[in-house]
Amino acid sequence: MGTRNRIYIHTWGCQMNEHKSEGIAGLLVREGFEVAQRPEDADVVIFNTCMVREKAEDKVYSEAGLIRGLKETKPELLLGIGGCMAQALGKKIFKHSPAVDFIFGSSNISDIPELIREAQRRNGQRNGSSVMAVSTIPDRIEELPFVRRSSFQAKVTITEGCSNFCSFCIVPYTTGLLRSRLPGDILREVTQLVDQGYKEVQLLGQNVDSYGNDLDDPDIDFANLLRALTRIEIPRIRFTSSHPKDITSGVIEVLSEENNVCEHVHMAVQSGSDRVLREMRRGYTREEFLELVHQLKSRVPGINITTDIIVGFPTETESDFFETADLVEKARFGGAFIFKYSPRPGTISYYKHPDTVPLEEKQRRLEHLLHVQKRITDEENRAWVRRTVEILVEGRARTSLGRYLGKTRDSKTVLFPGRPEMIGTFAKVAVEDAGASGLFGRVVS
Ligand code: SF4
Repeated sequence: MGTRNRIYIHTWGCQMNEHKSEGIAGLLVREGFEVAQRPEDADVVIFNTCMVREKAEDKVYSEAGLIRGLKETKPELLLGIGGCMAQALGKKIFKHSPAVDFIFGSSNISDIPELIREAQRRNGQRNGSSVMAVSTIPDRIEELPFVRRSSFQAKVTITEGCSNFCSFCIVPYTTGLLRSRLPGDILREVTQLVDQGYKEVQLLGQNVDSYGNDLDDPDIDFANLLRALTRIEIPRIRFTSSHPKDITSGVIEVLSEENNVCEHVHMAVQSGSDRVLREMRRGYTREEFLELVHQLKSRVPGINITTDIIVGFPTETESDFFETADLVEKARFGGAFIFKYSPRPGTISYYKHPDTVPLEEKQRRLEHLLHVQKRITDEENRAWVRRTVEILVEGRARTSLGRYLGKTRDSKTVLFPGRPEMIGTFAKVAVEDAGASGLFGRVVS
């Protein structure tokens, strides 16, 4: 690529997107780029976008406006947009934001170097125009040379896309149908990570429990993959996200039997009302969900179950909402991400239902549920006071001067007075206090 250019990547959205950005960085470093820490220091800025939440587009366009400002003093600076938004909107983005020089789709990461080269050529010409590579349907999982942010925790994608088509969700349209990586490739990657000294891997997929459903071999499923990975000498294996309709007894068995699989399941319930769950096309009832919670809690002692919930889904009545609040009380989640419904153009619910619940009512339901969940999280965390937990130390706590933070096996955050050399090591912490934000203690070994 000639001169040594610098890239800056801004990522929106989930852990899968964050991991994809590690792949983009790795690919471009291989092409001779350096990674910049600020857009001001970069020659190419890349936005890896997400459209799952409300106003995502507005935020991306507003950030693009800031890059446009930088271009006034540095005309050779390039801006590329990729990910969900690029996949959904394609060249419409150019019309909205003249600052954008290139666009790449969800399956077009490996096209980025060529897009940059082409954009640089065109940027040098008068009346230069923008370039785009967006496959109509995302259809491949690209094997990328990841530059991982952490030297001890690694994300490993096992599936991309999703074939579930929940009525509110844009993901199947922007990331395509389910594609599973072959078990041999995943096992090889995790083995290499262990050889490099990694202590924790997090397996990623929109719905990890559907792993293998798109492959011909009936023996390839998530439980068997997980079991095979436990044979590799890695202290901690995590996975996210799980879908309540797809978790099998085989997965619960592995969770209960294998020491290196962490006791944490993040599975979105979305609603506690059967009628709303049907409208959402989630594929389970509230009773089935609660039975699954019971199975997990009784067979995997100390398991932490976290969830996602949408309030104000179209047609959700007050009594539907109370069923959700009641389910939250019964399931006693360790934590929950709670969102107000926002219509996503292109999804089933967008076309089927007007957005019937007024914004103030959505806000009221959100606050009520946040309050309930905060109390439960607080109570669940307080049960750990006067106990000793094992944590993997992740780094300094941003909000608490002089403290460090780590995660327990069941994914609770622990704050404690620490030292820089502890980062990336396991420590035992005696828990002295707790609240909804986590556990607080001191290192005992
Ligand atoms: S399972 Fe449903 S909510 Fe999750 S990614 Fe697939 S379609 Fe979206």
